[in-house]
Amino acid sequence: MPVEYLKKATLTSESDSGQTQAIVTGILNDIEAGGEKAAMEYAAKFDRYEGNVLLTQEEIDAAIAKVPERLKADIDFAHANVKRFAEAQKATIKDFDVEVIPGLIAGQKSIPVDSAGCYIPGGRYSHIASAIMTVTTAKVAGCGHIVACSPPRPGVGIAPAIIYAAHKCGADHILAMGGVQGVASMTFGLFGLRKANILVGPGNQFVAEAKRILFGRVGIDMFAGPTDSLILADKTADPMIVAADLVGQAEHGYNSPVWLVTDDRALAEKVMELVPDLIADLPEVNSENAAKAWRDYAEVILCSDREEMAATSDDYAPEHLTVQAEDLDWWLNRLSCYGSLFLGEETTVAFGDKASGTNHVLPTNGAASYTGGLSVHKYMKIVTWQRATREGSKPVAEATARISRLEGMEGHARTADIRLKKYFPDEDFD
Ligand code: NAD
Repeated sequence: MPVEYLKKATLTSESDSGQTQAIVTGILNDIEAGGEKAAMEYAAKFDRYEGNVLLTQEEIDAAIAKVPERLKADIDFAHANVKRFAEAQKATIKDFDVEVIPGLIAGQKSIPVDSAGCYIPGGRYSHIASAIMTVTTAKVAGCGHIVACSPPRPGVGIAPAIIYAAHKCGADHILAMGGVQGVASMTFGLFGLRKANILVGPGNQFVAEAKRILFGRVGIDMFAGPTDSLILADKTADPMIVAADLVGQAEHGYNSPVWLVTDDRALAEKVMELVPDLIADLPEVNSENAAKAWRDYAEVILCSDREEMAATSDDYAPEHLTVQAEDLDWWLNRLSCYGSLFLGEETTVAFGDKASGTNHVLPTNGAASYTGGLSVHKYMKIVTWQRATREGSKPVAEATARISRLEGMEGHARTADIRLKKYFPDEDFD
């Protein structure tokens, strides 16, 4: 039975992607040609900022002194949780070697990338937590050079709490540069920075598009653009909590979709009745963002049973997925496409966004169908190695020579032949 849309989105994240691509390509080309001067011009244009961009130790110390002790303690708490989780992830990455055939040993080794560029969004809100998520994970992975890059507020620079968080979590440099110009500065190695090997971190559509275009010459964590969230709720869910959770995520931005998928019409109708009042009750800017996101991007979908709910959710592959329904173990086993899963009413996306330990840099726009979120693994290169005894190399060389000749790759075949002749001069090989 087809699902029923009680509310359907009128816009999708694809709606303005062509325009975004053209804007971002132009900025990247300008900065690649014009270097630091061009980057500074874009900082002045988009962020009305002309101050120092690579923070000095004195500037970092001065910012840290402005952060209230209570907030520092909260950042320290979140950092400790994210670090603990990241360390547990790192412990799952095992180097190994195996004797593939007698005398031939091959192994796998994990090596952290040298230089990580962490983008910390800061246009609309001060994403303190993004500094914790990106920098801590890079540090635990073992990256040698970590840059934290965030947009400056007009005239004043990066919010002190972001500077505190980036410094606390292990950033070697802090760059006050936002959007495409920030991403470009890390990639091209401007302002005395080492060129980034990998760019990580969330951002708006311009940041996400810049990372997508630059992928190849630099590694990226994933496509992490405007946030999206889906709630699966059955008749046992509390409509007020479901509504509050939808509004909490719609607040991210005018283009942040939230979706409710349920098999209970009464619940859906109650939630749709509650949401507008909760949005109206937010502070003005947050309310404007959430109202647009709810009007243009939100969907409420009615399914016939939980299996159909799960299939619908997997189809959306949401960044954040919340289940407020009976039998949480069934959902944990059944669901397969999400960035991060929040099971039960006692936890919520905001906990993961800020402080519970799992990473909040997550795949958006359906990318959860093929990748998970930011983890220690994203900073690690899994490489392989091999060595062999002469006896061990013999059957491999024979097979290599034959396969290579069939492929027409005579040069390859001869690298095998030369060894066989040298190690086994008395034998004939065809
Ligand atoms: P941002 O730091 O991503 O972007 C701000 C920058 O955008 C500015 O510095 C400016 O240079 C650039 N910019 C603004 N208008 C522009 C234009 N017209 N042309 C070119 N560049 C322009 O901050 P933001 O805008 O607040 O967005 C933060 C985003 O991060 C939100 O969309 C939020 O949903 C997302 N987010 C995602 C995750 C995730 O894990 N996926 C986590 C947190 C936040």
